[in-house]
Amino acid sequence: MIKPDAVRAGNIGNILQMINAAGFRIVAMKLTHMTKERAGQFYEVHKERPFYGELCDFMSSGPIVAAILEKNNAVEDFRKLIGATNPANAEPGTIRKLYATSVGENAVHGSDSDENAAIEGAFHFSGMELY
Ligand code: UDP
Ligand code: MG
Repeated sequence: MIKPDAVRAGNIGNILQMINAAGFRIVAMKLTHMTKERAGQFYEVHKERPFYGELCDFMSSGPIVAAILEKNNAVEDFRKLIGATNPANAEPGTIRKLYATSVGENAVHGSDSDENAAIEGAFHFSGMELY
């Protein structure tokens, strides 16, 4: 996902450019706006964390771009491309170093395993929206 902060800042194009340049194939993509309830479902694993409420408010604060990306070693390579959760700790040249403003408003989401990538892909897309 390209998160609401990066969409608001006009960085959809810059981020997609970096994703393409890194060799990912776009299998599915849409501009969408999660309700707070949908954001809460998406981040259910973080329900007990102190930042959960703020995270759900933020993720429902404006439209996002949801996408399914394909590549060999996609999960690991995408997390390398986006950089650390906190942009202060992200490597130079990563998406979060370039476009995130804080640990919460950090421009992009990336799945953390193949299993969760499948679950998160199905959260946003039906089978007929995959190409
Ligand atoms: N987050 C936050 N404060 C924290 C840790 C995480 O607001 O201390 C938010 C942030 O937007 C992050 C999301 O919760 O991207 C999910 O956290 P996770 O640890 O899964 O980080 P990610 O996988 O996104 O790098
Ligand atoms: Mg995560």
